[in-house]
Amino acid sequence: MSYRCTHYPIGNTERNAKYERPRMSPGFGFTKALGTLAALAFTSMAWTAAQAADCPYQDALGTSRVLRVDAATFPRVGLKSFPQTLPLADREVVLTFDDGPWRGTTPKVLAALGRECVLATFFLIGKSAAAQPELVRRIAAAGHTVAHHTWSHPNIKQMKPEAATADIDRGIAAVEKALHGAATATPGIAMSTPTTPFFRYPYFEMTPATLDLLQKRGIAVFGADLWASDWEPMKPAQQLKLLTERLQIARKGIILLHDPKAQTAAMLPAFLRYLRHNHYRVVHLVPAAAPTSAATSQGPK
Ligand SMILES: [Zn+2]
Repeated sequence: MSYRCTHYPIGNTERNAKYERPRMSPGFGFTKALGTLAALAFTSMAWTAAQAADCPYQDALGTSRVLRVDAATFPRVGLKSFPQTLPLADREVVLTFDDGPWRGTTPKVLAALGRECVLATFFLIGKSAAAQPELVRRIAAAGHTVAHHTWSHPNIKQMKPEAATADIDRGIAAVEKALHGAATATPGIAMSTPTTPFFRYPYFEMTPATLDLLQKRGIAVFGADLWASDWEPMKPAQQLKLLTERLQIARKGIILLHDPKAQTAAMLPAFLRYLRHNHYRVVHLVPAAAPTSAATSQGPK
């Protein structure tokens, strides 16, 4: 496959600064009171009908339904990399954000999603999660799904098998630790079953050995059905045009975006309005084992 994006290297502050905008004040309610494990587990995994009803914006896009993803049924999804994708209806989209958390832009993305009462999936980089655990908890507390994207965002194909596995595991452990604290996260130990068993390879570069390993562990591997090419610098308006044109052709699918990109954060409010005005519906992914009872009532209409 020919995906060769130019993700910035994590920690490259000089280049990151180019994308960064002044931090936006959070517009929704993460509080320290939600910091208990029980509360966090509920808010991170249990999207409920009550939350939909609680949306304070009458004109919001909203989240139309919850889709439980079981790695046994859907071990690998996303047509850019695999022959299979999620069972989405026409005009149903799944929003996914890679490479966060990033303090300069992730709050802005969360605010845009919150304004439209839309829930997404964030594939986090372990190193960034370890540096900003409060932002990880804030993503989860808003009801989004927190998934995994390695520790240091390497090209797995260029690594020795042991190093590749170690980077994947360290990333999972770092995100789990950010979510739940040290008590449940010992790097390299017992981290092969993350709370949310969703993983995406950096650059979609994968190896048979790691694919087999993830499948054995019950971790679903996510590709994407379409993307915004937001690793290429462009103005938000240009970004919006590119993405909406691709969506008009695809009509549905798992959309890949990057919350650390300022151009993506800037265009997201307009993109969500575009989805609403054009009768698209947003589907929220949760792990099959998520303890939600109300979620199933949000089935396809
Ligand atoms: Zn990435």
